[in-house]
Amino acid sequence: MSSPIRELKDHYQVVVVGSGYGGSIAACRLSRAGKQVCLLERGRELHPGEYPNNRRQAYDELQLHRPELVLGRRTGMYDLRVGEDVSVFLGCGLGGTSLVNAGVSLRPADTVFQQPSWPSGLRRDIHQGLTRGFDKAEAMLEPTPLPPALQPRKLTALEISSRSLSHARFSRPPINVTFHEAANTAGIHQSACTMCGDCVSGCNFGAKSTTLMNYLPDAHGHGAKIFTQVQVRHLAFTGKTWTVHCQVLRSGLEGSEESTRTVHADMVVLAAGTLGSTEILLRSGRRGRLQLSPELGKHFSGNGDVLGFGYDCSSKVDGVGWGPRVRRAHIGPCITGIIDRRSDPQWPMVIEEGVIPGALRSLLPLSFAVASGLVALDSDDTRARRFTREVTSFLHGLGALRRTQTYLVMSIDSASGTLTLDPGTDRIVVQWPQAGNQPVLAAIDDVLREATAPLGGTYLRDPLWTSLLGMRLITVHPLGGCVMAESAQGGVVNHKGQVFRGSGRSVYSNLYVADGSIVPGPLGVNPLLTISALAERSAELILRDHP
Ligand SMILES: Cc1cc2nc3c(=O)[nH]c(=O)nc-3n(C[C@H](O)[C@H](O)[C@H](O)COP(=O)(O)OP(=O)(O)OC[C@H]3O[C@@H](n4cnc5c(N)ncnc54)[C@H](O)[C@@H]3O)c2cc1C
Ligand code: SF4
Repeated sequence: MSSPIRELKDHYQVVVVGSGYGGSIAACRLSRAGKQVCLLERGRELHPGEYPNNRRQAYDELQLHRPELVLGRRTGMYDLRVGEDVSVFLGCGLGGTSLVNAGVSLRPADTVFQQPSWPSGLRRDIHQGLTRGFDKAEAMLEPTPLPPALQPRKLTALEISSRSLSHARFSRPPINVTFHEAANTAGIHQSACTMCGDCVSGCNFGAKSTTLMNYLPDAHGHGAKIFTQVQVRHLAFTGKTWTVHCQVLRSGLEGSEESTRTVHADMVVLAAGTLGSTEILLRSGRRGRLQLSPELGKHFSGNGDVLGFGYDCSSKVDGVGWGPRVRRAHIGPCITGIIDRRSDPQWPMVIEEGVIPGALRSLLPLSFAVASGLVALDSDDTRARRFTREVTSFLHGLGALRRTQTYLVMSIDSASGTLTLDPGTDRIVVQWPQAGNQPVLAAIDDVLREATAPLGGTYLRDPLWTSLLGMRLITVHPLGGCVMAESAQGGVVNHKGQVFRGSGRSVYSNLYVADGSIVPGPLGVNPLLTISALAERSAELILRDHP
């Protein structure tokens, strides 16, 4: 789908930045309406069959950012931002984080959007524009629950756990995975899921409905021009048109004059994700002299994410993927079940089971060794000591890890992190002192321990969330930074996604943000469908304001 960089023109009606949910939806809807669209994506265009299948390939696709250094290539598919307080895992490539996610597509309860943190224009539109947005996104992504005939062991284990918990409703959530071979809504042929469990390293079978399978080919089919390995640095405004300053990330071009390019546009839609869009706007405030809200970078949330493990249960759980050994596949897609505890008045949360992809499974013993070592230090837990021994045996066979459940929890955090530009490196960093000491995390810890008990296993925390490692958190659902609000006093964009200009309600009428960064707080469930619904609604409003 992507064009060679030499074909990049000087001017387009619309430049869209990023190709995750927000960017793909903007490109699709605006090109369908006849706009001349150019989409710029920093990652590469990789298709099913080209995603890593073993550890070496996975390492080649890892880009690891710490405040002081960057390891790996800047177009690697797995983008890990290691922070002092919170780390973030993202996808990078044509398709954005949809390439590496689990594809759970859930609508939050209406009460989420009735909170005062959402602007009144959106609150008034919950049952019209927003609902239409959800409907359109579902029609394109075609989420469906795992069919009843398929019963992975990890799903059975999650159901057993649910019976021991209060306020717990167990079900199979809709996921963006196809279970039969057919053409999808966008006319793209998709295969049936092989149950290999490698969704998070990239589905090599074309069964996962990433945006590469639906919105992006639709946009391309309607004339959108797509350029990959182009990283947008900042924007400047001349009073009429936008200048988009970019860096070309193709190897061989680094450091040369050709590596920096500018593109002009009548309208820009920023959809570079929570970290990407906030970073571009922070730089644009400084270098492009845009007058942006003082709230830019604030209200960062990890969507209350917590990772945990039920280690060495009494029966097999099979929560580790197989990579290329597909004939033995019976693991199931990354997430197939959900324990919905959102009715708990004090600590609402959802718990899902997960799969460690085959290509990354050798990293697991190392993390567990850290975790179990700490447990052994803190207590006299013989199971934990036995576990440390089994780490070695794991290298020769799957050992107790075949009996290990992975838990992924989403809850309500305080959304009080801040995204800033590091003055030395000019890169975005997350600052959230005490993020790991929020009371909700201790409550989740207790619930996961209860969930593990009926499985006969030992509950292990996320190895990062331990006192020796500074109680750091990791999130795969970063939200906020350019949040929606009534005016620039409370946030960065209005209810349409238009960027506020100055400190009041006036806006840059041709500059929009359409991704996870505009969500003003945790959703309590997986966010992709909400981000998609907001982007669908925003596209409708853009076309109404700029026919
Ligand atoms: C392991 C994992 C599992 C997940 N599972 C689920 C799930 O089951 N359900 C769910 O709802 N959510 C899930 N998520 C989260 C979900 O995928 C994200 O919330 C969603 O993709 C965010 O969409 P977005 O459009 O905001 O950004 P993204 O999808 O992150 O897209 C942003 C795009 O912009 C590009 N970009 C960034 N900076 C620049 C730049 N400067 N110039 C050009 N391009 C740029 C990026 O490469 C990327 O392609 C998961 C995430 C992960 C990591
Ligand atoms: S389980 Fe395997 S085949 Fe099915 S969606 Fe995930 S990666 Fe694709």
